[in-house]
Parts: sequence; structure tokens; C-alpha cells
Amino acid sequence: MHEMGIANSVLDAVRAEMSRYPGSYPCKVGIRIGEMAAIDQDALRFCFEAMILETDMASLELAIEFCPRRHHCLECENEFVVHDYDSSCPQCKSLATKCISGDELELAYVEVEEYAASTVGAKST
Ligand SMILES: [Zn+2]
Repeated sequence: MHEMGIANSVLDAVRAEMSRYPGSYPCKVGIRIGEMAAIDQDALRFCFEAMILETDMASLELAIEFCPRRHHCLECENEFVVHDYDSSCPQCKSLATKCISGDELELAYVEVEEYAASTVGAKST
């Protein structure tokens, strides 16, 4: 299952990132998925949640940013979102357009929080 491998690499990336923040834990991870990456977001979320269950990252939230397919027109410099696989420029009708985004599959950010210092019951007056 495609999405299982992706969820696994997201978690690996989070773990690698966390090695730079001792004493903190990841609370949210954001990833970017392009339209052309052909990933089932629901399946990915499901795999992700199944994988973090009963681990030290069980509270980690997954935020998916969906990136539509965008093209850049080489004739008039227009940038536009491609609908229905029609990649011609809506402004000048040129077919000379270049794909600039839409195949992303990348880690956007990891939000970390410090473990609460053990101050419970130790408040000094
Ligand atoms: Zn154009």
C-alpha cells in the first residue's frame, strides 16, 4: 500500500527533525501533496494515525496541504491552475506552458513543543 510507505517516510522525517530538539516533542507535522502525486489523503491520514497509535508520537497531528497543478506560460508569463488536464494558457491560449507545481510530496514543517518542565507541585513562592 502506497500510502503506508509515505506515512512511514513522513514519520522518519519527523524523527530526524526531532533529533535537533532534545527535550521537545512534535505536536504537528505539515506536508504538501501535489495534485499529480496521486495520493489518497484519507488513506494517508488513516495509515499515519494507525502508525503513531501507542507510540510516543500518538498526539501528533497531520496537516495536509493540497497543491493544485499550476503551469507557467512561456509566452505571456501568466501562472494558472490547470483544470481538466487542459494545460493551455487561459490568457493567451498558448500551448507553450511549463508545469511549475503539482507533484509535491514534501515535508512542509514540524511544530514542536517543549516537554512541560516538571513544575507541578513545585511552585516557589
Ligand atoms: Zn499565456
